[in-house]
Amino acid sequence: MESLARIKVRGVVQGVGFRPFVFRLATSFSLRGWVLNSPEGVIIEVEGEKKKIEEFYQALSRFSPPLSRIKGKRISFYPPRGYRSFFIRESERGGKKEVLISPDISLCKDCLKELFTPGDRRWFYPFLNCTNCGPRFTIIFDLPYDREKTTMREFKMCEECQFEYKSPLSRRYHAEPNSCPRCGPSLWLEDREGKKIGKDPIKEAQRFLKEGKILGVKGVGGYLLTCDAENEEVVQKLRKRKRREAKPLALMAENVEKVEKFCWVNQTERKLLETLARPIVLLRKKEPSPLAKGIAPGLNWLGVMLPSTPLHYLLLHSPHILAIVSTSGNLKGEPMIISDGEAKEKLFSLADFLLIHNRKIWLRCDDSVIKPRGKKIFFFRRARGYAPFPLELKFELKKMVGVGAELKNTLCFTRGKYAFVSPYIGDLENLRTFGDYKKIFEHFQKIFEIEPEGVAYDMHPDYLSTRFALEEPFFSSLPRIPVQHHKAHLASCTAENGLEEKVIGVVWDGTGYGEDGRIWGGEFFVGDLRDFKRVGFFLPLPLPGGDKAVEEPWRMGVSLLWKTLGRKIQGLKIPLLKEIPSSKVELIIKMMEKKINSPLTSSAGRLFDAVSAILGVCLFSSYEAQGASQLQSLAEKGKRGRLYPFRIKENKYLVVDTLPLLEGVVEDLERGERREEIALGFHKTLGKIILEVAKRLREREGINNVCLSGGVFQNTLLSGSTVFLLKKAGFRVYEHRLLSPNDENISLGQAVIGSFKLQ
Ligand code: ZN
Ligand code: ZN
Ligand code: FE
Repeated sequence: MESLARIKVRGVVQGVGFRPFVFRLATSFSLRGWVLNSPEGVIIEVEGEKKKIEEFYQALSRFSPPLSRIKGKRISFYPPRGYRSFFIRESERGGKKEVLISPDISLCKDCLKELFTPGDRRWFYPFLNCTNCGPRFTIIFDLPYDREKTTMREFKMCEECQFEYKSPLSRRYHAEPNSCPRCGPSLWLEDREGKKIGKDPIKEAQRFLKEGKILGVKGVGGYLLTCDAENEEVVQKLRKRKRREAKPLALMAENVEKVEKFCWVNQTERKLLETLARPIVLLRKKEPSPLAKGIAPGLNWLGVMLPSTPLHYLLLHSPHILAIVSTSGNLKGEPMIISDGEAKEKLFSLADFLLIHNRKIWLRCDDSVIKPRGKKIFFFRRARGYAPFPLELKFELKKMVGVGAELKNTLCFTRGKYAFVSPYIGDLENLRTFGDYKKIFEHFQKIFEIEPEGVAYDMHPDYLSTRFALEEPFFSSLPRIPVQHHKAHLASCTAENGLEEKVIGVVWDGTGYGEDGRIWGGEFFVGDLRDFKRVGFFLPLPLPGGDKAVEEPWRMGVSLLWKTLGRKIQGLKIPLLKEIPSSKVELIIKMMEKKINSPLTSSAGRLFDAVSAILGVCLFSSYEAQGASQLQSLAEKGKRGRLYPFRIKENKYLVVDTLPLLEGVVEDLERGERREEIALGFHKTLGKIILEVAKRLREREGINNVCLSGGVFQNTLLSGSTVFLLKKAGFRVYEHRLLSPNDENISLGQAVIGSFKLQ
């Protein structure tokens, strides 16, 4: 019997080859009708045998294209209309927007093959793509996803490209960024005088890289700075120009075989390197290494990615290039540059040449960073290749905006079960980043058409994000909900894991504004998303000099030593006191004794700083969490590492006193124990502290779930051993899997708590 069905498909179904797929599928089932992109998703009408229609409906999900993700579909039947063929209708405009946008995706196997096939019309063409791959998020400025709504609208397709674009059986059928050397974007190399150089920009660029030059390269989400990773001199030059002392630099290599020359790569890591999202993967360094020493000083791991665009493939396609440094192109403290004008104005102070093309980048998107731990993977930064794909939660939320905190900030919009978390935006400390932040806010609001019912923000009065929530006219008529920083962390972890029941929350990070106006950062909570209660913390230590103590971990070292041993510390034979003149140490002690500019903090991050400084690992920090990262690297070289004693004082709160721990550390240092073992012992002891506190809370509250959140848990040595200990004691342990444990997850937590407050 003939019938007609109308099908609606929601999810990532535009710009991913969905319509041609529907066309092929419908034709193979001998169905007639049409398919259409609408702001609500893909709409299909098919006419034919009812049984065939039902099979077709099932097959839609089963065989959908690789980049698509179906989030829901519906079918309803009507009387037949007498269609004669199957065709693709022009996009429909207006209406509610329920489409999801695909992230930018590296090139697919078919395109990669064409890129290196002599005679192919796209042979060595740096901008080839198809419906299964290529840029999306960074070139789209509105929906529905059509060429006209992307930065590709400036290029008119040639006849051949048009033909592919219109042929339902072509891989480039409705590939919106489709182009070729005749009609698409072009590439050139430019010097500081604005002169275009050479006939073959790729060959020239490769030659300059080998000659030790620094190149700015326009990537998919912004400009990168690159140089030869084997050349120590140019790496140091790049560091000096970028004023980036010690922060690790990311690398790009052509393929896994090359990566294996300088890093260990297991199966999980190989798969991760090769995923089409192409994140930076943190891998263990091989020693000795052919690479420059200055790439990641003091760390056991390197951040490595494979090429994410045809342009990068071409650049790295040389037997003479093992790997290039690939770090974001920006002036210190500013966001990565995306416009060519700004690149020419600013990047020439850092780069010798720019490799430029004329496809515009609409939105900035940084590289994602992931670190595997065993077979599990953990985000350090979620951006290119993953954002703006929404997280799907287990429960419905109000339409909320979480504006985030300050460092490593993101924005989050919630709608129903979806949380749209922006890509990593960066440290909201200057107006340029703040400008980008507002642009992303407007963009998300527009493309996902979310009319928020409330806005949630951090309690810190001075954050730009707080001011945005309180002063932005857009929010003026909405309820504004302050959310404590560490509660937001915990809510984010809880929501990600779909937990509505009560949990024990361990939230350890660097800094967050506490409900008592103090600086928190080593906190224990119990409760659920309706209400988390702070039940424990680290014994607060003075932060001599406030923020200065964050930049100079040796101050925290002195703070912890003084708190434990008082004035006896002068004269101890420990690395910190060998490095820092005693007059300076004395000054800090006086400051703390007189309580001058020495606010107290319960931060776990600062405890890492202190121990790192005491061991002489990191006395001055030039990037966030340098002390902790280097301490972890040292600890990973340890073998035994004894457990140090600690006390848990129980009154109104559980207060973890680490002073016995420090006594043990000093004792070990004085009797000449290897620093690797002390660092490892410190890590082990922290895991034990979490276990002890969790056990006491379980006894008292009868809760068996433990959530771990906060930047400190980027430390995979700590998180790994903590999870092991907790599981052995019968706890269910939850970590972040979709977002980073650091402040990137704050915006989600705020939106979740805000939503529960409104309900
Ligand atoms: Zn492709
Ligand atoms: Zn063309
Ligand atoms: Fe935090």
